Amino acid sequence: MTTKQMYIGGQWVEGKRHYELRSPYSGVSIARIPLADEDDVEAALSSAAQAARTMRGLTSLQRSTILEKVSQLFQERLEDCARILADEAAKPLKAARAEIARTIETYKFAAEEAKRIHGETVPLDAAKSGAGRFGYTKREPLGVIAAITPFNFPFNLTAHKLGPAFAAGNAVVLKPASQTPLSAMMTAKLFEEAGLPAGALNVVTGSGGVIGDLLVKDSRVKMITFTGSAEVGLGIKEKAGLKRVTLELGSNSAVIVDSAEELAPVAARCVEGSFNFAGQVCISVQRVYVQRQLFDEFLRLMKEKAAALVSGDPHSEETDISALIHEREAERIERWVTEAAQAGAEIACGGKREGGFFHPTIIAGGDPKLTVSCSEAFGPIVNVNAYDTWDEAIELVNDSDYGLQAGVYTTSIKKAFDAIERLEVGGVIINDIPSFRVDQMPYGGVKNSGIGKEGIKYSTEEMSEIKFVSFQL
Ligand code: NAD
Repeated sequence: MTTKQMYIGGQWVEGKRHYELRSPYSGVSIARIPLADEDDVEAALSSAAQAARTMRGLTSLQRSTILEKVSQLFQERLEDCARILADEAAKPLKAARAEIARTIETYKFAAEEAKRIHGETVPLDAAKSGAGRFGYTKREPLGVIAAITPFNFPFNLTAHKLGPAFAAGNAVVLKPASQTPLSAMMTAKLFEEAGLPAGALNVVTGSGGVIGDLLVKDSRVKMITFTGSAEVGLGIKEKAGLKRVTLELGSNSAVIVDSAEELAPVAARCVEGSFNFAGQVCISVQRVYVQRQLFDEFLRLMKEKAAALVSGDPHSEETDISALIHEREAERIERWVTEAAQAGAEIACGGKREGGFFHPTIIAGGDPKLTVSCSEAFGPIVNVNAYDTWDEAIELVNDSDYGLQAGVYTTSIKKAFDAIERLEVGGVIINDIPSFRVDQMPYGGVKNSGIGKEGIKYSTEEMSEIKFVSFQL
C-alpha cells in the first residue's frame, strides 16, 4: 500500500501521522493518507501568503495559459482520473468519466474568464462635486483563499474553486474531503506540470474538524469557499468573522410534473436524477410532485426505469449504482425508509440494504413531514407524491428548509412563468429535472442551501475585490 504525501509550497511532503483510505465498495485499503497537523497547515498558509504576491504579478495571459494547460492535462489523464474516482468514491466509471469531462470544461471556462476580468468606468460628474474627475473600477485578487470540498464531485467541485481562484490571481489552500484525497493530489500534480507557481496551490489532508478550524480562523485567509453539508457550512460561517464566505450546501430538490407531451422520457429523467451516483448529488431529485391524473402511470414508468439500473462494482463498465460513501450512510437511509413504511408510505421498489449498498428506492405517497421528504437524503431514495392543484404543487416544493434548484415539467407557458416567480430556489429548470447543471451557469442556493454563487464568471467575481479609482484631471 502506498503512502501519499501532501503538496505544500510546491513540494510533496510527508505527514507525521496517517489514516488508511479504503474503497467504499470493497473495503480494500487503497493508500495511507497524511493527517495534517498544525505545523503542516501553518506551512501551507505561509506558502500561500507568499505565493499570493507572485500570483498577483502574473499577467492575465499567464494565468489563462496555466488553466488551459491543466484542462489539457485532464484530457490526457481522463482515464486515470476516472479510476481514482471509482477507487476512492465508488463512483461508477460512466459517471466518473462524465465528471472528468466536466472538469476539463470547467478549467477551460476559467482559462477564458482569466482574460476578461474587467472593471468599468464610473460617471463621477453625475454628482456636482465629481465634475472634472475620471472614475473607474478594477478587480484585484483577494490573496489567500481556503477551499474546503466534499467527496461527491472531488475533481469538478475542486475545479469550481481552483479555476476561478487562479483566474483572478489568488493562492489557495485546499482541504479535500477525507474520503477523496487522491483526486486532490492528482489535481495538484497536474497544476505542478502546468507550471503553476510554487505555493499557489497547497493541499492538506486529514480531519475537517482539525484542519478546517485552523484555516477558517487564520487571518491570512481572506475567503473561505466551502461546498458540503449545511451543518458544517453553518459552523464555518459562525467562526469566519469578517472573511468572505461562500457556502454551497445541500438540498432535498423537487420536481413538479404538471404536464408533458410524453411521460416516459420525463420519468426516465427523474430516475436518472434520483439515482445518479446513488443520489449523492446536491441537486439529486428527492421529491417528485405529479399531477394526480398522471400519477399512477408516472409511478409505473419510474419503477420500470429504476428496475433496469445495474448495480455493482464501480470499475465495471455496466454499473449504474455502487456502494454509498460509508456503510453508516446506507444504514441511515435504511432507518429513514423504515420510518416511511411504518408511517404508511408505499415502498414502490427497492428498500433493501446490503452492507454499504442501498437498492434504488422509490417511496410513493406519505406525509411531507417524513424524514425521506424533508431532510436531505444524499442517497438512492426518491419520494413521489400526487397533487391536485397547481398552487398546492408550488407550496409543496417551497415547503422545505432548502432551496437549491427545482424542476418543472409543463406544457403551459403561463405555469412556467408562474413557477419562475414563485419557487424559492436559486435556479428554476423548466422542462427538466433540478439536477441540470452546466459549469458556466450561475449556481447556488437560498435558505439552508447556502450563500453566494458558483459558475466560473460568478465565482471569479466573488474571488476578487473591486478597487475604485478617482482620477483628477
Ligand atoms: P461534509 O460537510 O461532511 O464535508 C465537506 C468538507 O468539509 C470536507 O472536506 C470535510 O472534511 C470538511 N469539514 C468537516 N468538518 C469541518 C469543520 N468543522 N470545519 C471545516 N471543514 C470541515 O460534506 P460531504 O459529506 O463531504 O458532502 C456532502 C454534502 O455536500 C451534502 O450535504 C451535499 O448536498 C453537499 N454538496 C453541495 C453542493 C453544492 O454545490 N451546493 C455540491 C456537492 C455537495
